[in-house]
Amino acid sequence: MRLDWQRLAVLVPRRHIRSETDIPVQGDQAVRTGQSERSALGGLSMLRMQPPIPDRYVDATPGELAEWIAAAKATLGDRLFILGHHYQRDEVMRWADARGDSFRLSQLAADNADADFIVFCGVHFMAESADILTAAHQQVVLPDLNAGCSMADMADIDAVEEAWEALEDVIDIERVVPVTYMNSSAALKAFVGRAGGAVCTSTNARAVLEWAMGRGDKVLFFPDQHLGRNTGLAMGYGHDDMAVWDPRRHLGGLSEADCKAATLLLWKGHCSVHQRFTPAQVEAFRSAHPDGIVLAHPEAPYEVCQAADQVGSTDAIIKAVDAAPPGSVIAVATEIHLVQRLAAEHPDRTVVSLDPIVCPCSTMFRIDAPHLAWVLEHLVEGDVVNHITVDERRPAGPRWRWNACSPSCSGVAPRRSWLPPRRGPPSAAPPTDRGWAPGSGRCGCRGRLGHQLGGPSATT
Ligand code: SF4
Repeated sequence: MRLDWQRLAVLVPRRHIRSETDIPVQGDQAVRTGQSERSALGGLSMLRMQPPIPDRYVDATPGELAEWIAAAKATLGDRLFILGHHYQRDEVMRWADARGDSFRLSQLAADNADADFIVFCGVHFMAESADILTAAHQQVVLPDLNAGCSMADMADIDAVEEAWEALEDVIDIERVVPVTYMNSSAALKAFVGRAGGAVCTSTNARAVLEWAMGRGDKVLFFPDQHLGRNTGLAMGYGHDDMAVWDPRRHLGGLSEADCKAATLLLWKGHCSVHQRFTPAQVEAFRSAHPDGIVLAHPEAPYEVCQAADQVGSTDAIIKAVDAAPPGSVIAVATEIHLVQRLAAEHPDRTVVSLDPIVCPCSTMFRIDAPHLAWVLEHLVEGDVVNHITVDERRPAGPRWRWNACSPSCSGVAPRRSWLPPRRGPPSAAPPTDRGWAPGSGRCGCRGRLGHQLGGPSATT
């Protein structure tokens, strides 16, 4: 990542939080001002890189902020494209030019080539994905650099490479295919590329796992154990076919025999929002509403997914609520801002969170109107702050090498990808359920992703 560390590597508390009620305090994801979050490995996972923004923004009224944002948008016109992830709060979402999940938003940004500035109101890995997919002249901005993703942080590149090396000592690593979820850093997406694996979304996870099992005997799936488990179970694998790899323990806490026996090695990572849902909540909802409908995101624990009426990505959840008959009572196991928006947009249906003690995505929550106004006013001045880039330069060392994308891809030499297939021909690309092959030039990557980003939008 080519970030301006001298400017940003300052651990500072947020100063702009306006009231205690603004701070999500429920659940293990909630982090108070000035605290640091720690990864599964015990290390600092989410650096507080965001310098304090000027008091002018911190102290502004909602009306003033709205006025400044509207004025900046009007001045920038088509040069600006604001993306709002489904989990974003309303004070930010109202300014979004497009709403969606991370991959879909990145594709929209890439399709909108007139926009020089892509302001991504989401989290860090989403802004990275947008930078990968967009053209060289488009600059991606994340309004608050503290908006990371706790799940993505649970599998950092060092830990994954260590796991890979440890597995290499006990099993035939050539028969292991690594698969990372879209919700991961660009470094991990690069890792799976050079190790012959793939990136999946929550919609195409099954298709990608089927592809992977056709290429090897085992899959190392990261960072979300729940998506891996739910997908594996849906494919017909049993719990005995899966083992959880705990990066804090020697050999992932497994024996050599465990490693050899498992077909799916699931990284011990999770989404702090979706892991909170429980089967007891489904039971309680069903006893209160026997005809009610339960919708769950596949990042939720498998017991919840098993008990739900439907399991699917944010897109699938939105479609399911749209399709439900008027008068339906629907409990949704996903982030609260999306649930509340669905409830507001469907007044003839009752849409509630499955979890009565609500936990928002606290990292997404860091993006707010003051930060949005701050980045936009800088853009008006010609100053791109919080610019997120995925570095096209290759880190030095024998593990890394440049590689071109598929000859079949219409893209030119990869500007930002370092995704050489470790084995197999480039044409052995992961499947998608859209009818196009990643790397064909129709997937949106224009050659830069070397086949890794297949499939339709459907991440958290
Ligand atoms: S909802 Fe979960 S996976 Fe999505 S950004 Fe927040 S922490 Fe990450």
